[in-house]
Amino acid sequence: MKNSSFLYDFFKKGNISNENLKLLLETEDFNEILFKLAKIKRNEHHKNYVNLRGLIEFTNNCENNCYYCGIRKSSKIFRYRLSKKEILKCCEKADKQGIKTFVLQGGQDPNYKDEELCQIIREIKENFKDCTITLSIGEKSKKSYESFFKAGARRFLLRQETASSSHYEMLHPKNMSLKNRKNCLFTLKEIGFKVGAGFLVNSPHQTTNNIIKDLNFLKELNPFMIGIGPFIPQKQTPFKNHKAGSFKLTVKLISILRLMFPFAMIPSTTSLNTLKEENSLKISLDAGANVLMPNMTPKKYQIHYNLYDNKPIRTNKTIKSLKKKLYTMGYKFKVYENILQKN
Ligand code: SF4
Repeated sequence: MKNSSFLYDFFKKGNISNENLKLLLETEDFNEILFKLAKIKRNEHHKNYVNLRGLIEFTNNCENNCYYCGIRKSSKIFRYRLSKKEILKCCEKADKQGIKTFVLQGGQDPNYKDEELCQIIREIKENFKDCTITLSIGEKSKKSYESFFKAGARRFLLRQETASSSHYEMLHPKNMSLKNRKNCLFTLKEIGFKVGAGFLVNSPHQTTNNIIKDLNFLKELNPFMIGIGPFIPQKQTPFKNHKAGSFKLTVKLISILRLMFPFAMIPSTTSLNTLKEENSLKISLDAGANVLMPNMTPKKYQIHYNLYDNKPIRTNKTIKSLKKKLYTMGYKFKVYENILQKN
């Protein structure tokens, strides 16, 4: 077995060769040391804090047809759009629970005109002065992104899903391109957004080399947030019979990402916790995750935002119990970034 000194070097410098990445990804030999080092790195930079974001799934309409996604255009599902009033109510619900970052997530919905979205952003900012608005609404023009930034949005999540062109083509129809997605990410950065990217773990046809390409692309992009989650099949998609992604591999990748990006916001995603592994939340936080995104969407809509099968429905009650659960795991909530709470 290879000497583990390369891992200590990775811990110190944040860099690792593709050859050693392959070794980490394809063997289990170094897991124990990797998880230990990632936990130390997490504690060094984030102590035992968990950042909370209030997720608002405000539209399940989408003009795209990604082969892995349950709300793709071709899915025969009930379509909804939250009104501005309903969105503000979700923000209020989050705010009351001490959550100051709102993530407005939706499909790539062509019916939301820029001005309408800008108005929503402005009103959220007026009503919740100390909040941060994150958008996750897909690929748009530079002009649109600029208008959202001007209106007050400061963060944008857009996962590349895979950074390999040939693999991207296996997951998306011909009218979508990886080039455009990457351009959008760099444009968002140029405008001033803090961007989030990420990829699907064990998506159909994914190879180890594809994952290495994703990690290298993230190095180049240097995002503020990185979201990775296991692929989970959805019954209305072409990949309905494909097996779900691995919990172990996803957690291992969280640790690799923590060592590569010590400061990044890395969520323990809902999809990861959908796999129902015992202690999944604690394992992912210990591995390096430092963000949770409780769902603020009204329950009656949440059930229709079924990106993948068995997506859990969150209620206020479960958020309260989640808070308690975190305390028992030795973690604390952090409301404001850069300002550590006293207790
Ligand atoms: S992954 Fe996003 S862009 Fe693709 S179909 Fe689903 S919601 Fe639309």
